[in-house]
Amino acid sequence: MGEFDLIARFFTRPVRRAALGVGDDCALLSVTPGMQLAVSSDMLVEGRHFFADVNPAHLGHKALAVNLSDLAACGAKPLAFTLALALARVDEPWLQAFAGGLLALADAHGCELVGGDTTGGPLNICVTVFGEVPAGQALLRSGARVGDDIYVSGTPGEARLALDALRGRVALPPAGLAQLRPRLEQPTPRVALGLQLRGVASSAIDVSDGLLGDLGHILKASGVGACVDASAATDLLAASAHSIRDTGTFDTQTLMQCALAGGDDYELVFTAAPTQRDAVQAAAQASGTRATRIGRIEAAPGLRVVDGAGQALAQRFASFDHFA
Ligand code: ADP
Ligand code: MG
Repeated sequence: MGEFDLIARFFTRPVRRAALGVGDDCALLSVTPGMQLAVSSDMLVEGRHFFADVNPAHLGHKALAVNLSDLAACGAKPLAFTLALALARVDEPWLQAFAGGLLALADAHGCELVGGDTTGGPLNICVTVFGEVPAGQALLRSGARVGDDIYVSGTPGEARLALDALRGRVALPPAGLAQLRPRLEQPTPRVALGLQLRGVASSAIDVSDGLLGDLGHILKASGVGACVDASAATDLLAASAHSIRDTGTFDTQTLMQCALAGGDDYELVFTAAPTQRDAVQAAAQASGTRATRIGRIEAAPGLRVVDGAGQALAQRFASFDHFA
């Protein structure tokens, strides 16, 4: 099968919203008046972002999910995406499964595949998403204000716990691993929550490299500091871990590292004024996503991590950096 047959068979679909999809030199998107286009790219590289033997349907899901997560963090509604793909060989069952996982998530979000590029080479997947947000209403990293509450969605650390179990670093029974593994391989982008947080949150970011590290980007962009209660985030993970392994307990250090610095969560970390507490919980409820208050924005620069009793924690929580 040649390049163009491959594109036609696996990646060409009729478009409904885009003015022009796959097949010409460019795709054409009609932009709704008064809206801004939100654009983001994320690349997945074999051996670095996923294991070579990962289920291709899950890989297709994740390639789009991590991009939709960026739209979620901006409060943007998904519209369309492109797919740039380097493939070592044409493996039809693999491509079928990959496209299946990718396009199922795309359909669930009304996000159309409108173009891309296909080439030979080590397996590498780059998706670019396009979304829209009313002009001036995007959630930015720079909007946090002193006194704002800090929240995280979902249960941070589950993806990292699954990764550690796959690497044999923590013991999980097969049923427990089966329960956590989708959090690593098929993350749920918090698009619905992001949309509900427009006009409610003052800033937002999605957690790809670790909760505290990504929160640090908000602090830097906003020119503020923060105090975070490590136990608030760790308790969420402890409850989830307990429900999947009823014999024995995980040590708190492991859970804390996973929750605060694990990465690959694709949860949202966001800030909102204390006057918005009810609105935040209404947004969480409307989107079927838990939002937990984990700290407060402060004027003093830097990030202070405390335990449930307010005592400062000494250890560092380094988040993931490809070049550190
Ligand atoms: P060009 O040479 O003009 O860049 P290509 O021959 O690479 O165009 O691609 C032909 C068409 O197929 C274009 O519309 C392009 O967007 C689309 N396309 C190529 N690869 C993919 C892919 N992996 N997924 C979706 N569309 C693709
Ligand atoms: Mg061209």
